[in-house]
Amino acid sequence: MSEWSWDAPGDSMERTCARAVEMGLPAVAFTEHADYTTWKVVASDFAGHEQLTAFVTPDGTLTPPRLDLDGYLECVQRCRDQFPNLRVISGVELGEAHRHSDVAAKLLDAGQFDRVLASLHTLPVGQQFFEPPGLCRNCQRPRWFGSTWPRYPV
Ligand SMILES: [Zn+2]
Repeated sequence: MSEWSWDAPGDSMERTCARAVEMGLPAVAFTEHADYTTWKVVASDFAGHEQLTAFVTPDGTLTPPRLDLDGYLECVQRCRDQFPNLRVISGVELGEAHRHSDVAAKLLDAGQFDRVLASLHTLPVGQQFFEPPGLCRNCQRPRWFGSTWPRYPV
């Protein structure tokens, strides 16, 4: 990922490419997050990533901002021009594309990515979606798992 992923604003595609060249790598692949699901969070989910709270409404709903596709693809091209001996592979990591097929298809058409990762970051509990920390908060301790399974508030 690079600065084009909504959850990695401090990263840098250019610095990553420069480091890859230093290390003698033949290629790098960027798979930026494109997420269309909104999910429920609590403040402790952001320990060490407090800048992400900008995307959270007071009721605890996180709405990821859209991928700036034009900016991202321009940056890929700049890096390809700047590092001609490094293969810069463009990609996207699509969260829950099966739940957002129209907008996901449009992004894939427009992006013409070299690689596409299909990811599952959230699952529903009732009518709301959660990432793993929230899923665990909503879990009941399964009896079959024995005594090593941690207890979470239900
Ligand atoms: Zn991911």
